[in-house]
Amino acid sequence: MKKILGCVLLAAVLVICMGMKGIVPVDVDDSANEEKVTMYSEDGRSEQFTPSEAEEQKTVGWYDNFSDVLTTMWKEDGSSIVAYKADEGKYEKEGYTTNYASIFAKVFNPETEEVKDVLKSEVQSYVDSGWKRGNGKLDPDAPMIALTFDDGPGAKTTPRLLDILEENNARATFFMLGDHMKGAADTIKRMQSMGCDTASHTYDHTQLTSLSGDSLKSQFENSNNNLKDIIGENPSSVRPPYGSYNDTVKNVAKEYGMPIILWSVDTLDWKSKNADAVYNAVMSTVQDGDILLFHDIYDSTIDAVERLIPALMDEGYQLVTVSEMGEAKIGGLEPGHVYTDLRPGTVKSLTGSSNNSEKSESSNNSNNSNNN
Ligand SMILES: [Zn+2]
Repeated sequence: MKKILGCVLLAAVLVICMGMKGIVPVDVDDSANEEKVTMYSEDGRSEQFTPSEAEEQKTVGWYDNFSDVLTTMWKEDGSSIVAYKADEGKYEKEGYTTNYASIFAKVFNPETEEVKDVLKSEVQSYVDSGWKRGNGKLDPDAPMIALTFDDGPGAKTTPRLLDILEENNARATFFMLGDHMKGAADTIKRMQSMGCDTASHTYDHTQLTSLSGDSLKSQFENSNNNLKDIIGENPSSVRPPYGSYNDTVKNVAKEYGMPIILWSVDTLDWKSKNADAVYNAVMSTVQDGDILLFHDIYDSTIDAVERLIPALMDEGYQLVTVSEMGEAKIGGLEPGHVYTDLRPGTVKSLTGSSNNSEKSESSNNSNNSNNN
């Protein structure tokens, strides 16, 4: 890449220099006492001005640095040119773009830790030979979103989803039902080894606000114990069925050390069971800090996610767990607190004032229109 860019740069400078014959050298007025400044325009002209004239010229599109009137443009095959900015439109018609990120993407080798920029059209062949998408690092300042999956694990759908996540070096959060865990020990161990969040969706999908006392606690306890038996860890967080909670539920979640996680983008995958609809529900609305709700028990959901993951990464999103996002954006999630998203506005209200620590909480705490 570097070598190609070097050659292209050299060639481009030659072309530009030839193009400027007759314009440079510029007529210098030797009689002037004032030292003159050479300035450049985006269409390739250069002229000399007195310092006071030069200041004025800056306001009408002249630059004192030659490099400021140039732009690098790339084609889909990776070839590049350096052109005058005024010629951008002309080269766009020939298929060049100034948007480097639309042509190249980063891949990294998990064994050697090498990171390189490759053509987007070549990324899949790198993935096929063991490379991963991205640079292998979480950038806390770059956009990120959390894909979350409820009601699983599914016997076939969840392993297929893990294949897709692994191939793309993406992670997700799984809100699993305690009574589904026992038969899915291998799948859950794999989630853990991939760095996914293993979280609870209660033991058997009971609406928690209808319970109290021991029956409420057992929805946490039985699910937590099943997970602990498999991977030796407590669930990282809980998503109450139907998004339904109250102060009692919050207190019990706090007791078990679990933040309560809702969602900001509902894909309605359970309702549509249509991959296109799920894909569009995400791409039409997704933004930095979103928590996306899916169910990993439908083939149509996995079909959608297979297309969504590369598309979201192409848009610059890092696909992280809810815990990672909480760590990166607000220094960690608090047990018993409710989070619907960590969008920039929410982060500001959560970190701006310690009194506002539950700003992301929805005022209506029940969402019965949804079967999550
Ligand atoms: Zn559910």
